[in-house]
Amino acid sequence: MMRSRDILVVGGGLVGALWALLLAQRGHRVRVVERRPDLRRAPVPGGRSINLALSDRGWRALRLAGLEQRIRTFALPMYGRMIHDRDGQRRFQPYGKPGQAIYSVHRRLLNAELLTALEEQPGVELLFEHRCVDVELDVPAIVVETPEGERRRLEAEVLFGVDGAYSAVRQRMQHLERFNYSQEYLEYGYKELTIPPAATGGWQMEPDALHIWPRHRYMLIALPNPDGSFTCTLFFPFEGSPSFAELRTEADVERFFAEEFPDARALMPRLTEEFFANPTGTLVTIRCFPWSYGGKVLLLGDAAHAIVPFYGQGMNAGFEDCVLLLGLLQRFEQDWEHAFKEFERQRKPSADAIAELALYNFVEMRDRVADPSFLHRKRLEQRLAEEYPERFVPLYTMVTFSHMPYAEALRRGMLQERLLDELMSIPDVEQHWESPAVRQLIARWLQELPPYSEEEFSLPAERVQ
Ligand SMILES: Cc1cc2nc3c(=O)[nH]c(=O)nc-3n(C[C@H](O)[C@H](O)[C@H](O)COP(=O)(O)OP(=O)(O)OC[C@H]3O[C@@H](n4cnc5c(N)ncnc54)[C@H](O)[C@@H]3O)c2cc1C
Repeated sequence: MMRSRDILVVGGGLVGALWALLLAQRGHRVRVVERRPDLRRAPVPGGRSINLALSDRGWRALRLAGLEQRIRTFALPMYGRMIHDRDGQRRFQPYGKPGQAIYSVHRRLLNAELLTALEEQPGVELLFEHRCVDVELDVPAIVVETPEGERRRLEAEVLFGVDGAYSAVRQRMQHLERFNYSQEYLEYGYKELTIPPAATGGWQMEPDALHIWPRHRYMLIALPNPDGSFTCTLFFPFEGSPSFAELRTEADVERFFAEEFPDARALMPRLTEEFFANPTGTLVTIRCFPWSYGGKVLLLGDAAHAIVPFYGQGMNAGFEDCVLLLGLLQRFEQDWEHAFKEFERQRKPSADAIAELALYNFVEMRDRVADPSFLHRKRLEQRLAEEYPERFVPLYTMVTFSHMPYAEALRRGMLQERLLDELMSIPDVEQHWESPAVRQLIARWLQELPPYSEEEFSLPAERVQ
């Protein structure tokens, strides 16, 4: 019989709210401490990404929490990339098989739904505008600053640090002996801009694609919102030429956008106003280990593994943390210490793998997608995937449309890349596809890729209760 526990969750963001909900649904008494005001009532702060790409790993966690249908009401499917050239030409590249899509969801709406579902559970207390300022790992306990400016000490049986990339819980763990930690900033920042709905209502570009303006060293992307607008994000160097440092005046911004993104510029009436009003965000990868302290404290989501956003997996990975941890708590019959140890042992290689993949995908999105040889490579990849569906699965599909551990996806992906490199080096390879040389080459590489079955990875978690 499962014993109900007193649990503290620091952070009521996407992952913290979902994790608290899953715990409350299993009868635990959960207190969530969130430093910001309740976002369902507070004015919209600028700076954090407005919408996010939700994919299969994230959907599985929402399904487990019984929220899939609620979220689907405002999730917009994006079936592929729409590449915009400088001269206004556009090309569509599907993400996967027909019908496979990633979904643009509004961060605030998603977080609000999670908080509302959490509040509907018995035994839940949500403490907004309570900032965790100190942590006692051994108890475990935290000290919070209340909205009145007072300090309050809260104890629990188990404490989860789900307080994002700059986690206060992790900062306390950094004082422990043999705690590894690294943070690595990109030389790039990001700026959010808007393409408003058409005057007649509706979207001004195709809403069922993720739009990309790849320009080698930098890029602009746009994701659709349910109100007919698009949120655009410019990923751009801080320094150098061109860079944020160089775009100092309205005329600089106008000129740059007119030259580099003319079709997007034409749809952005408030470009210069937004460019100077909106903050420039930073992009960081955070790696640390261990994530747990005895069976008492555990880091989840960005607090444990913050990554750059180019694979659209940060939140999805955090949501997947929740599914995997629940599965382990069930397997180890609520032996929390054992479950935490196994969780970090299994999960850390995958956290490192998705961090690496996310950095790699920045180069793919801003540079390689515009290269004609990339399309050739994609065609070969598609052909192999169709001929050997159980062995050759495109890397994007493994990351986005499967539940395979990220570490295994990276391992297989690297082998597949080497096969593609060799195939690409054969002149007119598609015309010689059936030749013994090409068949032998493919057969040799495929030996390294054991048969893949989605069942293997999806079933255990689907059995989580
Ligand atoms: C530009 C950008 C685009 C992105 N796009 C995608 C995408 O398309 N798909 C995707 O899957 N991911 C994406 N991500 C990543 C995603 O935003 C994060 O992985 C996700 O928000 C992590 O959720 P979290 O709950 O762990 O952390 P957070 O969302 O950061 O939430 C942490 C919460 O803890 C609270 N908190 C912090 N410190 C304290 C404290 N001391 N006391 C109390 N509360 C505290 C914060 O206020 C916050 O509410 C993107 C990120 C960025 C920056």
